Amino acid sequence: MGFRSTVPAFGKKVIIEARVNEYMPRDVNPNVPFTPDEIVEAAVACREAGAAICHYHARNPDGSPNHDPETYIETIRKLRAASDILINPTLGQVTLKSSDEARLQHIVSASREPGLTPDFAPIDIGSTNVDVYDPAAKTMRTDTLAYVNTPKTCAYFARRMREVGVKPVAVSWTIPFTRMFEAFLEMGLLDQPAYLLFALSDSGYLGGHPGTIKGLLSHLEYLPQGFRYEWSVNSKVGNLFGPAALALEMGGHVAIGLGDYPYPELGTPTNADLVRRIAEHAEAFGRAPASPAETRALLGMS
Ligand code: ZN
Repeated sequence: MGFRSTVPAFGKKVIIEARVNEYMPRDVNPNVPFTPDEIVEAAVACREAGAAICHYHARNPDGSPNHDPETYIETIRKLRAASDILINPTLGQVTLKSSDEARLQHIVSASREPGLTPDFAPIDIGSTNVDVYDPAAKTMRTDTLAYVNTPKTCAYFARRMREVGVKPVAVSWTIPFTRMFEAFLEMGLLDQPAYLLFALSDSGYLGGHPGTIKGLLSHLEYLPQGFRYEWSVNSKVGNLFGPAALALEMGGHVAIGLGDYPYPELGTPTNADLVRRIAEHAEAFGRAPASPAETRALLGMS
Protein backbone atom coordinates (compact mmCIF):
# COMPACT_ATOMS: atom_id res chain seq x y z
CA MET A 1 0.00 0.00 0.00
CA GLY A 2 1.13 3.58 -0.61
CA PHE A 3 1.45 6.23 2.03
CA ARG A 4 0.68 9.93 1.66
CA SER A 5 1.78 12.83 3.82
CA THR A 6 -0.42 13.38 6.87
CA VAL A 7 0.63 17.04 7.14
CA PRO A 8 -2.39 19.27 6.30
CA ALA A 9 -0.16 21.92 4.75
CA PHE A 10 2.14 19.51 2.88
CA GLY A 11 3.63 21.21 -0.19
CA LYS A 12 2.67 24.75 0.79
CA LYS A 13 5.65 27.12 0.82
CA VAL A 14 6.50 28.71 4.17
CA ILE A 15 7.36 32.39 4.52
CA ILE A 16 10.25 32.76 6.98
CA GLU A 17 10.74 36.26 8.40
CA ALA A 18 14.01 37.07 10.16
CA ARG A 19 13.49 39.42 13.12
CA VAL A 20 17.11 40.31 13.45
CA ASN A 21 17.44 42.80 16.32
CA GLU A 22 14.47 44.64 17.92
CA TYR A 23 16.12 46.31 20.96
CA MET A 24 17.72 43.10 22.22
CA PRO A 25 21.03 43.66 24.08
CA ARG A 26 24.16 41.62 23.34
CA ASP A 27 24.81 40.44 26.89
CA VAL A 28 23.41 36.94 26.27
CA ASN A 29 24.17 36.66 22.55
CA PRO A 30 26.77 38.88 20.83
CA ASN A 31 25.34 38.19 17.35
CA VAL A 32 22.55 40.79 17.57
CA PRO A 33 23.18 43.33 14.76
CA PHE A 34 23.09 47.04 15.61
CA THR A 35 24.44 49.16 12.72
CA PRO A 36 23.07 49.24 9.14
CA ASP A 37 26.11 47.24 7.92
CA GLU A 38 25.62 44.62 10.64
CA ILE A 39 21.91 44.39 9.81
CA VAL A 40 22.71 43.90 6.11
CA GLU A 41 25.29 41.21 6.88
CA ALA A 42 22.75 39.34 9.05
CA ALA A 43 19.98 39.74 6.45
CA VAL A 44 22.12 38.39 3.61
CA ALA A 45 23.00 35.31 5.69
CA CYS A 46 19.33 34.85 6.66
CA ARG A 47 18.28 35.05 3.01
CA GLU A 48 20.77 32.31 2.13
CA ALA A 49 19.37 30.22 5.00
CA GLY A 50 15.78 30.53 3.72
CA ALA A 51 14.33 33.80 4.98
CA ALA A 52 12.23 35.92 2.59
CA ILE A 53 11.64 38.94 4.86
CA CYS A 54 13.93 40.95 7.14
CA HIS A 55 12.38 42.88 10.05
CA TYR A 56 14.71 45.33 11.75
CA HIS A 57 14.96 48.32 14.12
CA ALA A 58 17.55 51.05 13.48
CA ARG A 59 20.04 51.32 16.34
CA ASN A 60 23.14 53.26 17.20
CA PRO A 61 26.58 51.58 17.36
CA ASP A 62 26.15 51.28 21.15
CA GLY A 63 22.82 49.49 20.64
CA SER A 64 20.57 52.34 21.78
CA PRO A 65 17.46 53.05 19.66
CA ASN A 66 18.02 55.25 16.61
CA HIS A 67 14.90 57.15 15.55
CA ASP A 68 16.43 58.93 12.55
CA PRO A 69 14.59 58.25 9.26
CA GLU A 70 17.97 58.62 7.51
CA THR A 71 19.30 55.56 9.32
CA TYR A 72 16.27 53.54 8.22
CA ILE A 73 16.77 54.75 4.66
CA GLU A 74 20.51 53.98 4.74
CA THR A 75 19.70 50.44 5.89
CA ILE A 76 17.11 49.95 3.12
CA ARG A 77 19.55 51.29 0.50
CA LYS A 78 22.26 48.85 1.60
CA LEU A 79 19.82 45.93 1.91
CA ARG A 80 18.46 46.50 -1.62
CA ALA A 81 22.00 46.63 -3.00
CA ALA A 82 23.02 43.41 -1.24
CA SER A 83 19.96 41.15 -1.40
CA ASP A 84 16.47 40.54 -2.80
CA ILE A 85 15.15 39.95 0.74
CA LEU A 86 11.88 41.78 1.41
CA ILE A 87 12.20 44.65 3.87
CA ASN A 88 9.97 45.20 6.91
CA PRO A 89 11.20 48.11 9.10
CA THR A 90 9.56 48.51 12.49
CA LEU A 91 6.81 50.95 13.29
CA GLY A 92 7.47 50.46 16.99
CA GLN A 93 10.52 52.67 17.19
CA VAL A 94 8.82 55.74 18.62
CA THR A 95 5.82 53.94 19.91
CA LEU A 96 4.98 55.59 23.18
CA LYS A 97 3.50 59.08 23.34
CA SER A 98 4.20 60.00 19.73
CA SER A 99 1.95 61.26 16.96
CA ASP A 100 0.64 58.97 14.23
CA GLU A 101 2.57 60.98 11.61
CA ALA A 102 5.84 60.70 13.57
CA ARG A 103 5.45 56.95 13.98
CA LEU A 104 5.14 56.55 10.19
CA GLN A 105 7.65 59.23 9.19
CA HIS A 106 10.59 56.92 8.35
CA ILE A 107 8.33 54.77 6.14
CA VAL A 108 6.93 57.78 4.27
CA SER A 109 10.41 59.31 3.93
CA ALA A 110 11.85 56.08 2.50
CA SER A 111 8.96 55.80 0.02
CA ARG A 112 9.97 59.17 -1.45
CA GLU A 113 13.42 57.81 -2.35
CA PRO A 114 13.52 56.07 -5.75
CA GLY A 115 13.57 52.31 -5.27
CA LEU A 116 13.63 52.46 -1.48
CA THR A 117 9.96 51.95 -0.57
CA PRO A 118 9.86 49.27 2.13
CA ASP A 119 7.94 46.13 1.17
CA PHE A 120 6.17 45.87 4.53
CA ALA A 121 5.56 47.72 7.77
CA PRO A 122 3.76 46.38 10.85
CA ILE A 123 0.50 47.67 12.30
CA ASP A 124 -0.14 46.50 15.87
CA ILE A 125 -3.88 46.41 15.42
CA GLY A 126 -4.97 46.95 19.04
CA SER A 127 -3.76 48.03 22.47
CA THR A 128 -2.15 46.13 25.34
CA ASN A 129 0.29 46.58 28.23
CA VAL A 130 3.95 46.02 27.42
CA ASP A 131 5.19 46.35 31.00
CA VAL A 132 7.49 43.63 32.32
CA TYR A 133 6.72 41.47 35.34
CA ASP A 134 9.55 39.97 37.39
CA PRO A 135 8.18 36.70 38.81
CA ALA A 136 11.29 36.08 40.95
CA ALA A 137 10.96 39.42 42.73
CA LYS A 138 7.14 39.36 42.53
CA THR A 139 7.15 42.93 41.28
CA MET A 140 6.57 44.92 38.09
CA ARG A 141 9.80 46.21 36.53
CA THR A 142 7.75 48.84 34.69
CA ASP A 143 4.13 49.74 35.25
CA THR A 144 3.17 52.55 32.87
CA LEU A 145 3.94 51.17 29.38
CA ALA A 146 0.50 50.88 27.84
CA TYR A 147 0.93 50.31 24.09
CA VAL A 148 -1.96 52.29 22.65
CA ASN A 149 -3.05 51.82 19.03
CA THR A 150 -6.55 53.18 18.55
CA PRO A 151 -8.69 52.12 15.57
CA LYS A 152 -8.22 55.68 14.23
CA THR A 153 -4.41 55.34 14.39
CA CYS A 154 -4.48 51.90 12.77
CA ALA A 155 -6.78 53.12 9.99
CA TYR A 156 -4.44 56.06 9.37
CA PHE A 157 -1.47 53.70 9.07
CA ALA A 158 -3.39 51.38 6.73
CA ARG A 159 -4.49 54.23 4.44
CA ARG A 160 -1.06 55.89 4.29
CA MET A 161 0.70 52.59 3.67
CA ARG A 162 -1.68 51.84 0.80
CA GLU A 163 -0.96 55.31 -0.64
CA VAL A 164 2.81 54.82 -0.56
CA GLY A 165 2.75 51.17 -1.66
CA VAL A 166 3.73 49.41 1.58
CA LYS A 167 2.04 46.13 2.58
CA PRO A 168 0.82 46.15 6.21
CA VAL A 169 1.68 43.29 8.54
CA ALA A 170 -1.28 43.25 10.94
CA VAL A 171 0.13 42.21 14.31
CA SER A 172 -2.21 40.51 16.79
CA TRP A 173 -1.21 40.20 20.45
CA THR A 174 -4.58 38.98 21.73
CA ILE A 175 -7.92 37.88 20.30
CA PRO A 176 -9.38 41.43 20.41
CA PHE A 177 -6.59 42.42 17.98
CA THR A 178 -7.69 39.63 15.64
CA ARG A 179 -11.30 40.82 15.87
CA MET A 180 -10.14 44.30 14.85
CA PHE A 181 -8.15 42.74 11.97
CA GLU A 182 -11.38 41.10 10.79
CA ALA A 183 -13.25 44.42 11.07
CA PHE A 184 -10.51 46.10 9.01
CA LEU A 185 -10.89 43.43 6.33
CA GLU A 186 -14.66 44.00 6.31
CA MET A 187 -14.15 47.77 6.04
CA GLY A 188 -11.74 47.29 3.13
CA LEU A 189 -8.89 48.96 5.02
CA LEU A 190 -6.57 46.01 4.35
CA ASP A 191 -6.06 44.51 0.91
CA GLN A 192 -6.47 40.76 0.49
CA PRO A 193 -4.65 38.47 0.75
CA ALA A 194 -3.65 40.19 4.01
CA TYR A 195 -0.74 39.28 6.26
CA LEU A 196 -1.43 38.60 9.96
CA LEU A 197 1.29 38.00 12.56
CA PHE A 198 0.51 36.51 15.96
CA ALA A 199 2.92 38.03 18.49
CA LEU A 200 3.16 35.70 21.49
CA SER A 201 4.94 37.09 24.57
CA ASP A 202 6.97 35.60 27.43
CA SER A 203 9.74 36.39 29.94
CA GLY A 204 7.49 38.66 31.99
CA TYR A 205 5.73 40.33 29.05
CA LEU A 206 2.11 39.62 29.94
CA GLY A 207 0.44 41.57 27.11
CA GLY A 208 0.20 38.71 24.59
CA HIS A 209 -0.70 35.04 24.65
CA PRO A 210 1.96 32.77 26.23
CA GLY A 211 4.71 31.70 23.81
CA THR A 212 3.52 28.10 23.72
CA ILE A 213 1.60 25.80 21.39
CA LYS A 214 -1.50 26.41 23.54
CA GLY A 215 -0.96 30.17 23.28
CA LEU A 216 -0.98 29.99 19.49
CA LEU A 217 -3.82 27.43 19.38
CA SER A 218 -6.10 29.79 21.29
CA HIS A 219 -5.40 32.47 18.64
CA LEU A 220 -6.22 30.00 15.86
CA GLU A 221 -9.65 29.31 17.43
CA TYR A 222 -10.57 32.81 16.27
CA LEU A 223 -9.11 32.94 12.78
CA PRO A 224 -11.47 35.11 10.69
CA GLN A 225 -13.51 33.13 8.18
CA GLY A 226 -14.37 34.12 4.62
CA PHE A 227 -11.33 36.31 3.98
CA ARG A 228 -8.05 35.71 2.17
CA TYR A 229 -4.95 36.12 4.36
CA GLU A 230 -1.80 34.34 5.45
CA TRP A 231 -0.80 34.14 9.11
CA SER A 232 2.55 33.84 10.83
CA VAL A 233 3.81 33.63 14.42
CA ASN A 234 6.65 35.06 16.51
CA SER A 235 7.39 34.99 20.23
CA LYS A 236 8.62 38.11 21.96
CA VAL A 237 11.30 37.04 24.43
CA GLY A 238 10.40 33.38 24.20
CA ASN A 239 11.47 30.16 22.47
CA LEU A 240 9.39 29.87 19.26
CA PHE A 241 10.09 26.26 18.24
CA GLY A 242 6.88 24.79 19.74
CA PRO A 243 4.50 27.32 18.16
CA ALA A 244 6.58 27.19 14.94
CA ALA A 245 5.95 23.44 14.66
CA LEU A 246 2.21 24.08 15.00
CA ALA A 247 2.37 26.81 12.35
CA LEU A 248 4.27 24.52 10.00
CA GLU A 249 1.68 21.77 10.44
CA MET A 250 -1.34 24.10 10.10
CA GLY A 251 -0.22 26.06 7.03
CA GLY A 252 1.01 29.15 8.85
CA HIS A 253 4.33 30.92 8.50
CA VAL A 254 7.21 31.63 10.91
CA ALA A 255 8.94 34.82 12.11
CA ILE A 256 12.05 34.18 14.21
CA GLY A 257 15.23 35.97 15.21
CA LEU A 258 17.60 37.14 17.90
CA GLY A 259 15.58 40.33 18.24
CA ASP A 260 12.81 38.32 19.86
CA TYR A 261 14.92 35.91 21.90
CA PRO A 262 18.66 35.14 22.16
CA TYR A 263 18.20 31.32 22.28
CA PRO A 264 20.63 30.40 25.09
CA GLU A 265 19.32 26.83 24.56
CA LEU A 266 21.42 26.79 21.39
CA GLY A 267 24.49 28.54 22.78
CA THR A 268 25.05 31.75 20.85
CA PRO A 269 23.38 31.13 17.48
CA THR A 270 23.28 33.71 14.69
CA ASN A 271 20.04 34.90 13.11
CA ALA A 272 20.86 32.72 10.09
CA ASP A 273 21.30 29.68 12.35
CA LEU A 274 17.73 30.16 13.62
CA VAL A 275 16.35 30.61 10.10
CA ARG A 276 18.21 27.48 8.96
CA ARG A 277 16.69 25.42 11.78
CA ILE A 278 13.18 26.60 10.87
CA ALA A 279 13.86 25.77 7.20
CA GLU A 280 14.97 22.27 8.23
CA HIS A 281 11.87 21.78 10.41
CA ALA A 282 9.73 23.03 7.52
CA GLU A 283 11.32 20.46 5.21
CA ALA A 284 10.25 17.72 7.66
CA PHE A 285 6.66 18.96 7.20
CA GLY A 286 7.01 18.87 3.40
CA ARG A 287 7.25 22.65 3.19
CA ALA A 288 10.05 24.51 1.41
CA PRO A 289 10.95 28.13 2.23
CA ALA A 290 9.19 30.68 0.00
CA SER A 291 11.54 32.92 -1.97
CA PRO A 292 10.91 36.69 -1.87
CA ALA A 293 9.14 36.40 -5.26
CA GLU A 294 7.00 33.50 -4.01
CA THR A 295 6.20 35.49 -0.86
CA ARG A 296 5.02 38.42 -2.95
CA ALA A 297 2.79 36.05 -4.95
CA LEU A 298 1.34 34.44 -1.79
CA LEU A 299 0.48 37.89 -0.42
CA GLY A 300 -0.83 39.36 -3.68
CA MET A 301 1.90 42.01 -3.93
CA SER A 302 2.62 43.42 -7.37
ZN1 ZN B 1 10.16 44.92 15.76
